[in-house]
Amino acid sequence: MNWDKDKLIDVKCDNCNLSIVDHVYRRPDDLDIVKCRDCGLHFLNPRPRPDFIFKLYSEDYFRGSNGNPTGYLGYDAASHAVLRRIEARRRLLIARTLGVSRLGSTLEVGCSTGDLAAITTPLASDFTGIDISEHAIRIARQRAPASRFFCGQIDEVGPAAAGPFDTILSFEVIEHVLSPQAFIKSLAERLKSDGYLVLSTPNADCGIRLGFDNWLGARTSFEHLFFFRLEDLDRLAQNAGLSRVAAATGCGSGRFENSTSKHSVARRLALALGMRRWIWTLREWRLSKKQPPQLFDYEDNLEHHNIFALYRKTQICNERNTTGLGLAIRTEP
Ligand SMILES: [Zn+2]
Repeated sequence: MNWDKDKLIDVKCDNCNLSIVDHVYRRPDDLDIVKCRDCGLHFLNPRPRPDFIFKLYSEDYFRGSNGNPTGYLGYDAASHAVLRRIEARRRLLIARTLGVSRLGSTLEVGCSTGDLAAITTPLASDFTGIDISEHAIRIARQRAPASRFFCGQIDEVGPAAAGPFDTILSFEVIEHVLSPQAFIKSLAERLKSDGYLVLSTPNADCGIRLGFDNWLGARTSFEHLFFFRLEDLDRLAQNAGLSRVAAATGCGSGRFENSTSKHSVARRLALALGMRRWIWTLREWRLSKKQPPQLFDYEDNLEHHNIFALYRKTQICNERNTTGLGLAIRTEP
């Protein structure tokens, strides 16, 4: 993917509004990941203008047919719905293990094709899903007809998704938004005083440990604008009146494998012949035979590819002193 300069804009650190940064890594799409010299937040700068960013999330994003290394091949296919539900169950189980004791009224921001809604609706008193993709929302309404779905960014949806909610879930979304600070504040405003916010995102600490050129989070998913360490999420949450009660990392080592084997040659040939979806389905089937999907592989360290963090309103955390949860990561030295 090549970006013309007139499609890019310079941005400041979303956390401290400063523009003094250190260069960290030039991605294969020729865009740079930088690190704020003051707070250490990693972000893309310059980055595509908002109108180009929003164009990324078309129907093609869910079919991998936009010719760019963004999106998910076959994500919306009915044959992949089983895999999406396995992932959704896993996320729900992690949320419970971190301490979400009940779902109650639930909002999922970035609900995609509604697969989590489909399994959660019977467990929640009501379920509301929001996604920026009209295509995904159309599928979500079919897969989870008892839930309510809205298309747009969280602040565009209006009173129908104003809450307050007992539980707000947002998996792999915060790295896509234009302002994570504004995003978390919007989520916090919609949370009941004793509610739960569960976030997940790729773990920049994993990238720092491996080196960004070896990290999946920098070598794939070029639509990502931000790269968070747990302490970055905590700082954004604190500014929004939230405190972390637990966190864990998981989802593998995050190491990017640069394959040059004969298999990759065969794969490239097959891709050139237009057999992408067939290859993807076969790959997932082989993986599921060899390695049944694990529902829970998260641990209380910062090493793995993905962070999962649970936040509550700071007032509740102070009242209940919830620091003793088994999976709470200690950030102090
Ligand atoms: Zn900063």
